[in-house]
Amino acid sequence: MLHLAHEIINGKRLCAEDDLSFFITANLSELAAGADLIRKELCGDRADLCSIINGRGGRCSEDCRFCAQSAHNHTNCEVYGFLPAEKFTEDCRKIYAKGVDRYSIVTAGKTLTGADLEIAVESYRRMHEECPDIILCASHGLMEEGDLRRLKDAGVTMYHANIETSERFFPSICSTHTFADKLEEVRRARAAGMTICCGGILGMGETWEDRISMALTLAELDVESIPLNFLIPVKGTPLGDREKLAPEEITRIVAMFRYINPTADIRIAAGRSYFEDGGAVLFRSGANATLTGDMLTTVGNNTAQDRAMLTAMGYALKPVPEI
Ligand code: SF4
Repeated sequence: MLHLAHEIINGKRLCAEDDLSFFITANLSELAAGADLIRKELCGDRADLCSIINGRGGRCSEDCRFCAQSAHNHTNCEVYGFLPAEKFTEDCRKIYAKGVDRYSIVTAGKTLTGADLEIAVESYRRMHEECPDIILCASHGLMEEGDLRRLKDAGVTMYHANIETSERFFPSICSTHTFADKLEEVRRARAAGMTICCGGILGMGETWEDRISMALTLAELDVESIPLNFLIPVKGTPLGDREKLAPEEITRIVAMFRYINPTADIRIAAGRSYFEDGGAVLFRSGANATLTGDMLTTVGNNTAQDRAMLTAMGYALKPVPEI
């Protein structure tokens, strides 16, 4: 695997025409060591931290089978309208004080329009003004290009829109919008001048071929950040009874994404709780970024723990500001 890692460092890129079945069977330690080497050589030792806030909860019209916030699923998720701008600015200041690189409002729902869009624009504008050293990202579903431009003008530089899984498997996890809708959204966010955070969820019943296909799609889209969520089954969703992925399987998936997307930030989102130590092995297997703090509907590691873990592993982090 080290030979392939060196080839990738020297410019080789894996593509759909290659036989990539070795990802399923390769020795895991060797696979992970190669992924770690690619990460070191092409991304360096800087780890990127981001935190999110759920800006509008529940009652979503879409039927994503993994999601606690879909009105089609019967979960105990909290339902609330768009939070006020003050709530976001206050939370953003706290996150900034912890030395986190990025902050994002995430909203349940197919898109963001009307009065909620106006609050979002105003919130981003204020956060950009009050915390200019934190990078603002946004995640509001399938938005129009003109509205995306308004977010950009308010200070948002990265847009988050997951493809969720492979094109083949997508209809098995959502019927109210399509894989093509997702690709279009990525295109619109790019056209609006933003960088792209786009990944998905693993452990929903997809095959290894689906996982590889998803990684190849992201390579074609040339996205800057790839958030990987490992399904935490939520009771009341159609995937509520799915078996959780084993830590070794998660590690193999992370390494595979690094080989296929050698220069992107491979960002660990939900699922680090499957590892007793917060998933340190993933940051030696190709990952170089993570969500930190409370996740959307499940609980993650806190930022001080994450900073301590990553620093002990030799990663450089954004300094905690003196306030
Ligand atoms: S569109 Fe978003 S909030 Fe709505 S069900 Fe799908 S993942 Fe959940």
